[in-house]
Amino acid sequence: MPPKLRLPPLPSIASILKIYNVRAKKQLAQNFLFDPRIIGRMVDCATSDLTGKHICEVGPGPGGITRSILNKNAESVSVVEKDWRFIQSLQMLASTTQGRMKIHHEDILDFDETIAFPKEEAKPWTESKLPALCFMGNLPFNVSLPLLFKWLNLISHHSGVYELGRIPAILTFQQEVGERLVALPKESQRCRLSITAQYLCHIDYCHTIFGKSFVPPPKVNVAVIRIVPKKQFEIQLPFKTVDHVVKHIFHFRQKRCRKGIATLFPRSRMDLVDEMIRISGVNPLERPFNLYMAHFRDLCYAYQEICDRIPNIALVDTYHNKEWLKYFDEGGEPLNDVLLPKLPEIEDNFNCKNVEALHELSDETEQISSLA
Ligand code: SAM
Repeated sequence: MPPKLRLPPLPSIASILKIYNVRAKKQLAQNFLFDPRIIGRMVDCATSDLTGKHICEVGPGPGGITRSILNKNAESVSVVEKDWRFIQSLQMLASTTQGRMKIHHEDILDFDETIAFPKEEAKPWTESKLPALCFMGNLPFNVSLPLLFKWLNLISHHSGVYELGRIPAILTFQQEVGERLVALPKESQRCRLSITAQYLCHIDYCHTIFGKSFVPPPKVNVAVIRIVPKKQFEIQLPFKTVDHVVKHIFHFRQKRCRKGIATLFPRSRMDLVDEMIRISGVNPLERPFNLYMAHFRDLCYAYQEICDRIPNIALVDTYHNKEWLKYFDEGGEPLNDVLLPKLPEIEDNFNCKNVEALHELSDETEQISSLA
């Protein structure tokens, strides 16, 4: 058993903020956790003893969670912090850790996470045992969702940091977003997020942290969510394709799913809508939130089958007729002179900083905020 690596006595997190004269920035949604018991409970969602584990913490702020990670004996912790005002206090903390802590002053949405973990800890995706690596973070809500989408995209390709294996993550989300992430068929919170996350990952709702536990307190409660990539994905298609199909199916959430499916095709091609429904065998009268993962899987495969035959379809990511007319004539026939990008290019267009993707995500978060 390796020796316990405890930190020396340090000023409290509240004192650290005073010493370094740092105030929470409201526009950056900075809400800090001070209470070591609440922080400890969150960190325990990974495992109560972090001996031998390498952690990448996103958005450490004044370092409350970082201290808990270090005190639970983690082998190493790499922190990624965007706000320069925290760097000095994090350096002070790092100086007490005998080289166990590394600081990256970067935006996590641009960060290459592979440098946060030792490559020797990689574990094949086929292994049941997870690598001794973990992401952790209490981030602003407007960052945690785009970050999740960035990671889901990488997970679906086993690429980037996920070449190292099925790295689990413990992240916080606005409570309603957390409920959406774990929602099952027929539950009121079931939405695009539920499907795109659950087809790739096991998602657990660990517990709720009440808003009043943060300084300053946000208006909403916070969900602690554990995300573990699945060995076998429920749908064997790229994230971009699945997310596209699911997003359209949920476009008319309260209507029958046929109406959403129809937005995947030019208006004059109802034959393709019928074909997709026929191939998938899904009941077109069912509402999207009542559909099971197997239904979404069959719908995605049916859509892919049609795209393989008519590749122009995959190029249009919109509900508007005008957009379709760039790739199809008025009768819904594909324009032959359109230069089709190669599939990898289509994939590369999707990243979390893509304006369109972010716009859609923030739409979803706005809807959620308005429920709160
Ligand atoms: N982890 C600390 C805690 O729980 O007390 C701070 C939480 S505060 C809600 C979020 C932290 O994430 C802040 O320190 C903020 O500067 C940082 N942050 C926000 N956006 C970020 C980004 N894109 N990349 C890295 N850090 C970010």
